[in-house]
Amino acid sequence: MLTSISGKTVIVTGGSKGIGKGIAKVFAAQGANVVIAARGQEAAEAAVAEIKADGGTAMAVSCDVADWDSVQAMVAATTEAFGGVDILCANAGIFPQKKLIEMSPEDWDQVMSTNLKSSFLCVKACIPAFEAAGAGRVVLTSSITGPVTGFPGWSHYGASKAGQLGFLKTAAMELSRYNTTINAVMPGNIYTEGLQDLGEDYLNTMAASIPLKRLGAVEDIGNAALFFASQEAAYITGQQIVVDGGQILPESLEAIDEI
Ligand code: NAP
Repeated sequence: MLTSISGKTVIVTGGSKGIGKGIAKVFAAQGANVVIAARGQEAAEAAVAEIKADGGTAMAVSCDVADWDSVQAMVAATTEAFGGVDILCANAGIFPQKKLIEMSPEDWDQVMSTNLKSSFLCVKACIPAFEAAGAGRVVLTSSITGPVTGFPGWSHYGASKAGQLGFLKTAAMELSRYNTTINAVMPGNIYTEGLQDLGEDYLNTMAASIPLKRLGAVEDIGNAALFFASQEAAYITGQQIVVDGGQILPESLEAIDEI
């Protein structure tokens, strides 16, 4: 059991739904003060209520992670409520599907701002808090899509997720000065509200192509994030871990049929 999280303050961007909510609940169950940051406050407040009902400590903050002023305000609100920030889980992201032929420059910019620029903004905004605390942890939610695999309609998304991994290598070096680590979790297909929107056919096909024969649960990602945030992972930085039930392993459809 990882016991070093109790009493720490964690910001989870995109914590109102899906993977972020899973991360928030895993940290809350370990005794962390959880700040759920998202644009929609109804879902964020509902997630807070769920955590409180389970005996946890949480608050919702309205934030657009693509906007610098909004990100700074999120960190300020966290510091005011809990006295600082110990852990940042930069998880908020979008995955609109559009093939290159239909994709506008604005579509590209929106995905890059929400998924990649946000990592930079959120990490930058937390540095003073990490410095004041004498330590910090950052966990990025990347993806297998981009760094490892491709999927039609997600060229912008894949570029943003691979970009997060490029960002973290140099960020790890710079953050070491503040005794802060930064690592990334690369989920496969995880059952979330966002993924549900892609339809039943997509979900069934994806589950069939995964060696463990199921989509991931949000807690599967929460547990990996918890490990990176723990004292036990203090010497790991600039790294990434794939959490995908073996999804990236089969080299052909036949390989799956052989299982
Ligand atoms: P989701 O269910 O759609 O939830 C997305 C969360 O991000 C919501 O809380 C949403 O709240 C928030 N968000 C979106 N844009 C935001 C913005 N501009 N500012 C602040 N918050 C914002 O998505 P998910 O499936 O959990 O995905 C979460 C992360 O995991 C993403 O980075 C995604 O790329 C990554 N991922 C997911 C999967 C998967 O299979 N689900 C696989 C690999 C990677 P608001 O809309 O209210 O702001």
